[in-house]
Amino acid sequence: MRASSYIIYIDLPNTAEEMLLVHGYSGAYDRVSSKVANYVRSLELRQAPKPLYGAWRSDPDIDQPVQRPSDATVETLRRRGYLTNLSFEEEEEVLKTVAHKLHRQNSRKPAYLFMPTYDCNLRCSYCFQHHMRTDPKYRHLLKMMTRETVDRIFLGMASIETLHGLGPKDVLRRDIGFFGGEPLLAETRPIIDYIMEKTLAGGEGSFWAVTNATELQAYEDLLSPQRLGRIQVTLDGPPAAHDRRRIYADGSGSFEKIARNINLALDRGVEVSVRLNIDRRNLMELPELAEIVHRQGWTRYRNFGIYTAAVQVTNENMRREEEMDSWTLDNAVAELQKEHPLMSIVAQPDDSLRRQARSLFQDAEHTPIRMKESFCSAHTGMYIFDSFADMYACWERTGESSIRIGHVNEDGSVAMNSPMMQIWRSRTVASNPVCSKCRYALNCGGGCAVAAQGRTGEMHTNFCDGYSLRFRAKVAQAYLEHLAGQEMPVGLNRVCDQ
Ligand code: SF4
Ligand code: SF4
Repeated sequence: MRASSYIIYIDLPNTAEEMLLVHGYSGAYDRVSSKVANYVRSLELRQAPKPLYGAWRSDPDIDQPVQRPSDATVETLRRRGYLTNLSFEEEEEVLKTVAHKLHRQNSRKPAYLFMPTYDCNLRCSYCFQHHMRTDPKYRHLLKMMTRETVDRIFLGMASIETLHGLGPKDVLRRDIGFFGGEPLLAETRPIIDYIMEKTLAGGEGSFWAVTNATELQAYEDLLSPQRLGRIQVTLDGPPAAHDRRRIYADGSGSFEKIARNINLALDRGVEVSVRLNIDRRNLMELPELAEIVHRQGWTRYRNFGIYTAAVQVTNENMRREEEMDSWTLDNAVAELQKEHPLMSIVAQPDDSLRRQARSLFQDAEHTPIRMKESFCSAHTGMYIFDSFADMYACWERTGESSIRIGHVNEDGSVAMNSPMMQIWRSRTVASNPVCSKCRYALNCGGGCAVAAQGRTGEMHTNFCDGYSLRFRAKVAQAYLEHLAGQEMPVGLNRVCDQ
């Protein structure tokens, strides 16, 4: 018998006597004595493979004599998946089988995002669509979606549902997102109204948007949990810092308008998730922003959440040295939180992982094990429609017709771009040999495809983003919080993990 290739060993701060073992595909989480952990580790027949990009911290050497535990313990270790008689290859096949099964389940239901326009009233320098509004070559893209296009897309959605094996009775409720450009401009209101009307004419619907919130007042009557119930809004720092980056075409800032509309949405019961796009230039502005958030009174609302996201280089206005990976950002935010208690409201990139681990420690029996075979819905059932009735899998790649996954024809039939569909929808941890050998595979999902492509030129590669360190740190933190009986952190869902 050997140690499984998919064990994650988690050191616990403050104790050398115990550690946690997590099994990558059985989903087991166990606290064991260091002796038992050392015994298991002594049966590891090879080092974890190195990722193509980034680095994993290697486990410390075993510095105690290895003792075989009792037969009963060895049997439990075997049952929980930590010890196995399978060969490396056979185990990798088990992981792939789990991934394929999950992928089938997760791809069952389509998800929809409408982009009423690629146009936007702001000119944020780091926007991946910046060129569309500044380079006349792309001006043709800035067209508004028409009612005819919406009609076409709704016919197309019915065909897509059939392709997913769903009939009208299986689709009683549709969850519709809006993205842009800026989807919630005053000018786009009629088309947003029409999309919502059409959705509700076909059954129940829920609606959410990624919006810059500068013109949200034009949607006041739609802002409610029953209508436009969730929004994600971006702030880049306190007013002065934000107004240097999220600017109008004339260079003026947007903070004040956005803050006013966040108040409006919160008062009307909408879930507001504020995303802070952080790189090395604005990291140190976070404490001041936290103070402003408190002064605004947003933290009094249960429907308010705020989190940091590491900005990735997407155009020539950004430099690689300004970028941080999520692990570096996570640590930097934790350090700032120690010095500035008001910053405790800012959720960290991996708090959902911490919440999942907390609930496992609290009530393993009733906590469903969440595994992900792919990183985001671009690889399962996401269909993003633009104003040309073109379909995309990932919003970071919208507007590039060469990578659209299909198109809705004038008669409402759907023309799929099968090779492109295959590229997007087949990216799972089983589709590249680095992820399929990785202990973290079914927790991580393989990282963002766009970021992976940006690094390696190839989408079907791994984008680790410090995941091994982040996972171990968050699970250890959750365990210590559980022991200390601390309150479980709550959080709003974020829209895209990138
Ligand atoms: S996580 Fe990456 S691949 Fe997925 S939708 Fe976001 S940018 Fe696209
Ligand atoms: S599963 Fe995640 S951590 Fe593991 S190799 Fe792939 S991208 Fe990296």
